[in-house]
Amino acid sequence: MRVRIFDTTLRDGEQTPGVALSPEKKLSIAKKLDDLGVDAIEAGFPIISDGEQQAIKLITKANLSAEICGLARTSKKDIDAAIDCGLNYIHTFIATSDIHLQYKLKMTRDEALAKAIEAVEYGKAHGLQVEFSAEDATRSDREFLKRVFSEVAKAGADRVDIPDTVGYSTPQYMAQITKDAIAASKLPVSVHCHNDFGLAVANAISGIHAGAQCAHVTINGIGERAGNASLEEFVMALQCLPFEQKWETGIKTKLLYETSRYVSNLVGITVQPNKAIVGENAFGHESGIHTHGILSNPLTYEPISPELVGRTRWMQVGKHAGIHGISAMLEEYGVKPSEGQLRLILDKVKGIGDQGKHITDVELLSIANEILGEHAIKRIVQLTGFSVSTGIGTMPYAFVKLNIDGTDYVGTDYGVGPVDAALNAIQKITGEIAKVRVKEYKLDSISGGSAALCEVTIKVEDAFGNMSSAKSIGEDIVTTSVQAMIDGINRIMLKKTLKQKKIGS
Ligand code: MN
Repeated sequence: MRVRIFDTTLRDGEQTPGVALSPEKKLSIAKKLDDLGVDAIEAGFPIISDGEQQAIKLITKANLSAEICGLARTSKKDIDAAIDCGLNYIHTFIATSDIHLQYKLKMTRDEALAKAIEAVEYGKAHGLQVEFSAEDATRSDREFLKRVFSEVAKAGADRVDIPDTVGYSTPQYMAQITKDAIAASKLPVSVHCHNDFGLAVANAISGIHAGAQCAHVTINGIGERAGNASLEEFVMALQCLPFEQKWETGIKTKLLYETSRYVSNLVGITVQPNKAIVGENAFGHESGIHTHGILSNPLTYEPISPELVGRTRWMQVGKHAGIHGISAMLEEYGVKPSEGQLRLILDKVKGIGDQGKHITDVELLSIANEILGEHAIKRIVQLTGFSVSTGIGTMPYAFVKLNIDGTDYVGTDYGVGPVDAALNAIQKITGEIAKVRVKEYKLDSISGGSAALCEVTIKVEDAFGNMSSAKSIGEDIVTTSVQAMIDGINRIMLKKTLKQKKIGS
């Protein structure tokens, strides 16, 4: 069965506290959602501002494959604003729960029903596709809700939606009222679930199992309060879990991770590391038992393969490490220690792990270096020249000269400070050649005083989502940062070269 994906990242998602997007950003997200394969995009709430209208106009004119929808209360001026934006599909809503009727709308049930019918008829008279939502449906009187759905269907609505506005439904109740809505309206039913109790995706899936054809979802589950059902979790659960029936969507799942990160960057909301599907740790392993299992067969500790959602798995070592995981991690960098050397490396790793420290591939490589001797690890990128200038009344500026695999490159750039300028200049070169970007930069002071030692940790990422981190310690913040950056680039390029060789051979 095909399930319709109605994405409301640009409407409910934008109602996340602290989020506001410019029209250009909304357009760029709409394009990403369209590439991802969503069926409908709720582009915004036209009546709220001029900027919102401008954004929706840009999106309706962008010639996207997805249907474009706008939110409207059951009032003519809201619907007119939607029409003015070039929309031919509206999502109109009025609350039906007694608590909303009494304290927010100050209306009787019959008055609200009359407004709903009037709005649906008005929209249909203007040639619009109309999806009607009974706001706070899950806390509404069940008989009244059925009456509302049946009346709006008679008034000409094309679709009805069940919003679990405050995330108050259980999966069982969602199934029951979905069946009610289908019986009462005989229309395609959508479910719009919120995550106040962490049940948004479960409730949405329950609605689908009960016969709903569509779910309202957002990228990364953003939205008001605890957010909405997350698109990536909903789609992957439907597609991968052992339900009796087979479900499919139009989503290109390989683009999920990329889209998640794109939206996260633009809206400024980071994704929690343990978030399903798109969180940093969703395909990361540390424990020796797990890494050993993964190396024998990834299905032992991964329910789906990370490639399916556009990701790669990563492993790190620590006190839970085992010989197999360490050997596999080192092999990624072309380092092949003997059995005895591996034992020595493992002892060191466990020693550091027992001190409560976390060991990145950087430390692991430097431990391997110690035991195998320098030259065990190849360097592709060499820093051959470098200078910065900074001061007051002048823009910090950097000059960098790199030798990459035998060829010289020169890069210059400005920045907000000398470190930024230096890293920008490096990225100008590596950005073109290896598409490597800085993902995280962290600076710590190790000792006190102006001659303090500083420690720089850098995480770099290439275009395929491969990540590598590097750490450098020194007296000069700028030089130490540059060194860490070059180390990080070397690691990621080494990984890439080895991968290419493997594919080639
Ligand atoms: Mn909502």
